[in-house]
Amino acid sequence: MRKISLGIFCGMILSATMLFGQGKNAKAITAAQLRDYLTFIAADEMEGRDTPSRGLNTAAKFLAMNLSRWGLRPAGEENTYFQKIALRRDRTNPAQTRVEVNGRIFSFGADFLDREQVAGTASGALVYVGHGWLIKSKNINPYAGLEVKDKITVFLSGLPKGAAYSDLWGKQGEDLAAPLTYAAKHGARGAIAIANFQTLANWERHRRETVKEGRVTVEKFWKEDDVALPAITASPRLLNALFEGEKESGATIFNRGLGGEAVAPFELAATKKVSFTVGLNSDRLFTQNVVAILEGSDAKLKNEYVAIGAHYDHVGFGAAAQGDSIYNGADDDGSGTVAVLAMAEAFSRGPRPKRSLLFVWHCGEEKGLWGSRYFVENPVVPLAQIVAQLNIDMIGRSKKAGDTNSENAELADANEVYVIGSKMMSTSLGALSERVNQSYLQLKFNYKYDDPNDPNRFFFRSDHFNYAQKGIPIIFYFNGVHEDYHQPSDSPDKIDYARMEKIVRTIYATAWELANAKNRPQVDKKLPAELTEF
Ligand SMILES: [Zn+2]
Repeated sequence: MRKISLGIFCGMILSATMLFGQGKNAKAITAAQLRDYLTFIAADEMEGRDTPSRGLNTAAKFLAMNLSRWGLRPAGEENTYFQKIALRRDRTNPAQTRVEVNGRIFSFGADFLDREQVAGTASGALVYVGHGWLIKSKNINPYAGLEVKDKITVFLSGLPKGAAYSDLWGKQGEDLAAPLTYAAKHGARGAIAIANFQTLANWERHRRETVKEGRVTVEKFWKEDDVALPAITASPRLLNALFEGEKESGATIFNRGLGGEAVAPFELAATKKVSFTVGLNSDRLFTQNVVAILEGSDAKLKNEYVAIGAHYDHVGFGAAAQGDSIYNGADDDGSGTVAVLAMAEAFSRGPRPKRSLLFVWHCGEEKGLWGSRYFVENPVVPLAQIVAQLNIDMIGRSKKAGDTNSENAELADANEVYVIGSKMMSTSLGALSERVNQSYLQLKFNYKYDDPNDPNRFFFRSDHFNYAQKGIPIIFYFNGVHEDYHQPSDSPDKIDYARMEKIVRTIYATAWELANAKNRPQVDKKLPAELTEF
């Protein structure tokens, strides 16, 4: 018989109590339940749940129907579960969009594309600025000695030599500036991008998209976000006209740009008369976050909320693979969507915790964290009363034994989950998260991406980011990217439901503990500077 030490004895009392308290309810969360919900949410009929879209609206109604069945309180407008979000759609109007170079007219679609769907007329001298990126961390500054004010900048598509997407962080407009951001910030009148092979290969699709689908933005953010600079993409024919008579021809600029030895920036002849106009058809669309509350049982603590969230949108239709153009988004983020749904069901059927629970299914995450940004700027409960936010994105896949596919290299294995942010803002939240896991299913909590300098920047790439920006401590649960990430093949049959069940039960237990804890987690650490600049 093994000698029993005092320590172990205490541990066992704790886990029994916690297990019994939560086990009953956590046990209501099952692999079969998750599979049933995900098979619906990620079915082809949902058409990839783009924002906005018919498929997304159907998914929203499915969530609302269940929430109503379980008696959760609607937290949206007019006693619904929907937090309505007005969107602005801007589509290129070909009849009002044209370019003129020294009196020669160039037409939309044949000679150029509308890059930004920003209406306006730009006229002025041209200044060629290489790739146009300012990246101080790499000592890349194509604007040295150049003036862009009241001019039209011309830039190569893509990143300059020696820069990677992981270098693109820092204070926007100061440490780092994309070509359009720099041009807008320094008073340029407009910008012209030089099409690369990829754009040329998809020219017709781009033209159609700007006329048919256009650019959709959240109306409320439009003013804030928009660089508001009319911008076009030039075909080789227009490019040649723009650089006619200059020290370098359009063809040289194009070829050297692609070859990696881009021509150095220079100002074009001030006598060259160039102007372009972009005309738009603009209208209004709507989408929604889905929001519900389960009121707490304690007269005082019920005024505090544990927020649990995921994004229920994905990317919709896209480039076909094996004839399939529906991006089902089963893992991204169907897995989070049904995890939150299963927890809502389990909590609604079990004993009520003391604090209230706030369930938020965000839309528009794939478009740039729209839904969570809209939510934290238009919260349905005061942000100060949200004690923590638990965000779930991509917890459905696990690395199979013997899987040598390099795209699955970082996928968490069958008893592991990446945990990001739990210790970043609140020592007590990090400790609680660990304690619950250790006393319950003892998953392997992998903190590999819990690093401000993680080159993958996962901290920035899901909805918890907007809550953290508002000072709410967060925990982000994630299993890593894989071969089907943002592919039509991200389908429900590839999900590891048994492992998902364990993760969701652990998150449920963590929420239960947070909702019953005597004290709310204290925010005793400031977010590292690197994590405050998107
Ligand atoms: Zn996602």
